Amino acid sequence: MKTVYAIREGTLRMICEAAVQTYPREFLAALKAEEGVIVEVVVLPGTIQGDYHSVMYTNMLPTDYSVVGTVHSHPGHSNRPSEADLQFFSHFGGVHIITCLPYDETSWRAYDSNGRRVPIQTVP
Ligand SMILES: [Zn+2]
Repeated sequence: MKTVYAIREGTLRMICEAAVQTYPREFLAALKAEEGVIVEVVVLPGTIQGDYHSVMYTNMLPTDYSVVGTVHSHPGHSNRPSEADLQFFSHFGGVHIITCLPYDETSWRAYDSNGRRVPIQTVP
């Protein structure tokens, strides 16, 4: 798996819009990348979206080499991973984006499977 280092601006915008539309529920999707750049979000059928917290199981993820991680929104002002998030991240490699209110281009962070922040830049 090539290291993910960037996300396309348009993809990030889609994530922000989806998070706004899904609020106050959580938006949850898989991330697809090409050449280390996240270019697509794939909303998963059967995804559980609750007012409390989303739960996603690794076996719901498409078995597709281009899936490099996940994205979900928090219905509050914290984009730090919860205990449940960290547990989920640890079962899945790759990069995990969390966005929080107000779901703009600065309210998101990316984490690795250990819950450590990873630098992801935006590209046109
Ligand atoms: Zn979370």
